[in-house]
Amino acid sequence: MSMYKQKVALDLDGVIWDLVVPWINQYNILFNDDKQLEDITEYKLSNTLVKATSQELDEILLNNDFWKNVLPFKYAVEYLEKLNNEFDLYIVTKTDYRLFEIKVNRILHLFPFIQPYQIVCLHNKQLFNADWFVDDCIDNLVGGNFNKIILDAPYNRDTEYNWYRAYNLKDVYNIIKYGDNN
Ligand SMILES: [Mg+2]
Repeated sequence: MSMYKQKVALDLDGVIWDLVVPWINQYNILFNDDKQLEDITEYKLSNTLVKATSQELDEILLNNDFWKNVLPFKYAVEYLEKLNNEFDLYIVTKTDYRLFEIKVNRILHLFPFIQPYQIVCLHNKQLFNADWFVDDCIDNLVGGNFNKIILDAPYNRDTEYNWYRAYNLKDVYNIIKYGDNN
């Protein structure tokens, strides 16, 4: 007997691991600034990290050494494994093709229970067919034919949408499994 497993799609940056804090830190070092996470109230970083061009910000990520500073959020290792065991799990990331291989290698290192076929590079996330989609970017969820969970961040709090809101992957797991995050 086979049982249907719900298909769960998770965004990567800002959902599974913290990219933005090491990115800001490296920007502060290179461009002699003093920005903090709470300063980032818009999704587009170059609107806040104004001493760098958006191309210069992208180049920070193309340096392999940068990625050792990119680490899982609290609960991410334990609850990504639980989600992977209990659901049909995919990591769906809107990533520059030059960065995709770097990110896949980092995921496989940090989360050895994830298989490469579960990692998808997709720029229009609404194309993905899933029961649930978790993202920190409002625009990636709008119009998608899936249940939506926004992963809380300073740049997504000002929204008209009444979606589930999670603060970590433990919340995500509890919302999908039990319908709430308590
Ligand atoms: Mg994201």
